[in-house]
Amino acid sequence: MRLEKIILDGFKSFADRTEFHFDAAITGIVGPNGCGKSNVVDAVKWVLGEQKLKSLRSDQMADVIFSGSGSRKAAGSAEVALVIANPGGASGRLPIDTEQVQVSRRIYRSGESEYRINNKVCRLKDIRELFMDTGVGNRGYSIIEQGQIEQLVGASKSDRRIVFEEAAGISKYKAHKKEALRK
Ligand code: ATP
Ligand code: MG
Repeated sequence: MRLEKIILDGFKSFADRTEFHFDAAITGIVGPNGCGKSNVVDAVKWVLGEQKLKSLRSDQMADVIFSGSGSRKAAGSAEVALVIANPGGASGRLPIDTEQVQVSRRIYRSGESEYRINNKVCRLKDIRELFMDTGVGNRGYSIIEQGQIEQLVGASKSDRRIVFEEAAGISKYKAHKKEALRK
């Protein structure tokens, strides 16, 4: 499983449709202060279902929509899509029968947001299920931000256990059990 592409359209400073292709094993994004590097990371967290405004560095969810500049008018909506290689399809890392998986999220000024998996409208829950036990997700360890290593080292045993459970592939079963007990 590998992130192949990120497509941004109207998200934060990316007024025009912009694609990032990750063809090499390691890709660095460099640029002057304020050019939008962190906005790319925000986009990845956002499409995976991030709801915490602080983590997205926004005051309101609709703030992720391009707000206009001196010469450009604001966008009416924002969209982010991730294209992920899933070799093996149904027997691959992601439980879905396609060798390439696209997950996307669009938000309108009304605050209404819509998620899709392979272009089919779905619930946020479906996106979470798709990535559960893969380490990908807004609580997964595939995104390590500044200060997070320190946080993990200093975390309580129970908080650290959550990370190990995700890596061991048992979070999904725990989530299903919790849901079953609620019914
Ligand atoms: P640094 O090197 O300082 O960390 P960076 O490259 O990570 O900078 P970002 O924080 O990604 O920069 O980008 C900040 C820029 O994005 C600011 O210029 C800000 O005005 C712009 N920006 C954020 N949200 C929006 C929005 N909704 N519409 C337009 N521009 C936005
Ligand atoms: Mg930054």
